[in-house]
Amino acid sequence: MPRPNKRSRTLRRIFVRVPSGVSKLVYKARKTARIKCADCKTVLHGISALSVSKLRNTTNSQKKVERKYGGNLCHKCARKRIIQSVRKE
Ligand SMILES: [Zn+2]
Repeated sequence: MPRPNKRSRTLRRIFVRVPSGVSKLVYKARKTARIKCADCKTVLHGISALSVSKLRNTTNSQKKVERKYGGNLCHKCARKRIIQSVRKE
């Protein structure tokens, strides 16, 4: 029976082939979802996919792009949003 903290599904289970040829069960952290555009749902580039607890200690430049709506919208949707806001005036 695995240890109590290994019984939960917080960590994912991976079988790794070790040099002796035997496959061993290894527990690893789950992959976090990539940040997506709020409008078109495409994956945003230049933004690291980190867990919430690790995001606290990362710099602002790793969490967003230096652009208006950076880190929230992709470049195409940001362009549309800016043009819309100018036309409203
Ligand atoms: Zn978009």
